Amino acid sequence: MTYRSKVLLIYTGGTIGMNRNPHTGALEPFDFEHLLYNVPELKQFDTQIDTYQFDPPIDSSDMSPRHWTDLSHCIADHYNDYDGFIVLHGTDTMAYTASALSYMLENLTKPVIITGSQLPIGQLRTDGKENLITAVEIATARDEEGHAMVPEVGIYFGGHLLRGNRTTKQSAEEFNAFESFNYPHLVNAGVNITYHRERMLKPDWEKPMTPHFRLDNNVIIFSLFPGIREDLIRHIIHTPNLKAIVMRTFGSGNAPQSPWLLKALREGTRNGKVIVNISQCMQGAVEMSRYDCGFHLQEAGVVSGYDQTVESAVTKLMFLQSHYPDDPDTIRRLMGQSLRGEITV
Ligand code: ASP
Repeated sequence: MTYRSKVLLIYTGGTIGMNRNPHTGALEPFDFEHLLYNVPELKQFDTQIDTYQFDPPIDSSDMSPRHWTDLSHCIADHYNDYDGFIVLHGTDTMAYTASALSYMLENLTKPVIITGSQLPIGQLRTDGKENLITAVEIATARDEEGHAMVPEVGIYFGGHLLRGNRTTKQSAEEFNAFESFNYPHLVNAGVNITYHRERMLKPDWEKPMTPHFRLDNNVIIFSLFPGIREDLIRHIIHTPNLKAIVMRTFGSGNAPQSPWLLKALREGTRNGKVIVNISQCMQGAVEMSRYDCGFHLQEAGVVSGYDQTVESAVTKLMFLQSHYPDDPDTIRRLMGQSLRGEITV
């Protein structure tokens, strides 16, 4: 008997399944039946596609760590029953969800492919059909030994599969909505689907996947800009319960050399806050020793986020804080290490 692959299709919401509200004209989440009705092509796959729907489906702007925990539970509970998982998700926060799941699903040996669309699936020019159909293809692909071709969390969109925790939404307009600026594409889907296996994570196939469910969101992201005010920065750094800060700096990780800024950062570090340096540039890495103004940050205890995306840094901090609640030094050390291929070391 030939093997029939099985995929679990998890619908969280997002444009792909939305309909236009006849009264307001705005797009709002609709139900899953509507979505599947619009993609009869799925029946042509020799794959059993089971479905699970968030109730209610949400616009991804409403995504939260609670939903990531639900997703992690859903995948972990059904892990042995399926060859792969597809998460249908709004594009706005897709990169955050992909990053969070990459940390929450340790030693992943099966594909978790997140996709969505820029135009609803019921519209004639939708990009949702191609995204969904190719996501199914990728989620069921195996090598000669029967191992999944993509044992990681990826975002499939506009003809490319990207590592989830390397990805950023780059366009609210183009079908090619995502890019992983600091890591090459994992899969290119043109006439042929090309898997770049040398770029994929290498799990331990003998070991089980370990799911994690806890996240601690006592973290904030702020961007530096010329003219940033001392009182506001001090306010953030001295916020009670705040454990970590993703500070978006200039270029290769540079900041103004104002003594008050360095003093505030030093105080934050001394109080146990983890301050991570992530560049405002999409491409390239933080190198704090390149310029004097970056070097001073290092002296103030700021740690480098290297070439991580901001989405990866903030979700990694949530993940690490839940594991090492009173151990900022360990968090600082792990922020500089690659846990799931999120930084180039
Ligand atoms: N606002 C929508 C969402 O993120 C946009 C989309 O799906 O493309 O849910």
